[in-house]
Amino acid sequence: MASDSAAKSPARKPLMPVDEAAARILAGAEPAGEDWIAIDEAAGRVLAADLVARRTQPPFDASAMDGYAVRAADVVPGAHLRRTGEAAAGRRFAGEVGPGEAVRIFTGAPVPAGADAVLIQENTRTLGEDAIEATEGVKPGANIRRAGLDFRAGETVLATGTRLDFRTLSLAAAANHATVPVRRRPKVAVLSTGDELVPPGAEPGPDQIVASNHLGIAALVAANGGTALPLGIAGDTVADIAGRIAQAVEGEADVIVTLGGASVGDHDLVAAALAREGVALDFWKIAMRPGKPVMFGRLGGTRVLGLPGNPVSSMVCGLVLLAPLVRALAGIAPVAPLVETGILGAPVRQNDVRRDYMRARMATGASGTPVITPIPVQDSSMISAIAAAGALLIREPHEAAADAGAPCRFIRL
Ligand code: AMP
Ligand code: MG
Repeated sequence: MASDSAAKSPARKPLMPVDEAAARILAGAEPAGEDWIAIDEAAGRVLAADLVARRTQPPFDASAMDGYAVRAADVVPGAHLRRTGEAAAGRRFAGEVGPGEAVRIFTGAPVPAGADAVLIQENTRTLGEDAIEATEGVKPGANIRRAGLDFRAGETVLATGTRLDFRTLSLAAAANHATVPVRRRPKVAVLSTGDELVPPGAEPGPDQIVASNHLGIAALVAANGGTALPLGIAGDTVADIAGRIAQAVEGEADVIVTLGGASVGDHDLVAAALAREGVALDFWKIAMRPGKPVMFGRLGGTRVLGLPGNPVSSMVCGLVLLAPLVRALAGIAPVAPLVETGILGAPVRQNDVRRDYMRARMATGASGTPVITPIPVQDSSMISAIAAAGALLIREPHEAAADAGAPCRFIRL
């Protein structure tokens, strides 16, 4: 485990715990306003008001099967019934079903007056054009979906705060909403910093690398209900970084995320650029690994989150600190990533002062218990390692050494 200088120099202020940092980032975060949008654009959005059904579903007693609408009392094995017409979905049979009669019916068709059951096709035999024979009896009400079985006009079918996924979006549509009130998506401006960075697909110079963090962070923002606004790659100058931050503030970003330049090196200039733009830093450096040099501040209504540049640090801090903020601003609950319990697949050492989020493999044990095994190399530059990991093993500050088989806590990736 890397040694931590704060642990060795007691004079230094203790690092802020991750939970306190997360709480400060979230303080006062509320969904910002609403939009009315077309239902076909609403996948993934969050309802800003309760949705009331505008109609009853099904609107009439409907057949649940293909078969014959009948009077149940007529139907015993061997009974012959006169076939008097047909009811299809979208085209009802206008007449009535009288004694000894059957109307051919298909799933979704209104059940004709007079009938009180649907005899399924499999339990019949056709006798020429106009008659059938029942091979089984049928109970009254069988294979009929009563009007309003699903929902009734005026009922609240979806509550404020519901995310419109494949199920709830379908329900909103079935309740006949062509437009829906949704929370405004928080705007998250994402700025990469570093003279060494070029965008994917460009030809890097001899000392350069491809910038990747901004794309991962943008994907995380989108997955949690926000809209990512690219601010490009700033060179390592205060002027370039500050200029792009000013641009994001002008664009009324709810959140500005900077990537890199957060440490104490000569070329780590994000803090200076934020100061130039008037951002008051709430904290800088937290008890987290990866991710110690996280900074956070506010400028008016805009929150500014400075994440470290090492890709794994960016991603883990994004998951633990940024995603909850985006969710809170988007009105999606719960905001925090789900922490699960499992058992260790390998021994771990005593932890130091920082909460650790270790990249780990996840397997399933004999009883279905997740088995979490940290990978041997925990270098925070290794994108391939986090891409292959199944979980982040959480180790609390000063948590004691533990053997394989001991209980553990983790976040599934
Ligand atoms: P920094 O925090 O600026 O000192 O960056 C730490 C490390 O992360 C350096 O090796 C950078 O090259 C790398 N890095 C910084 N930003 C990015 C980025 N957007 N994509 C990929 N790597 C980055
Ligand atoms: Mg840098």
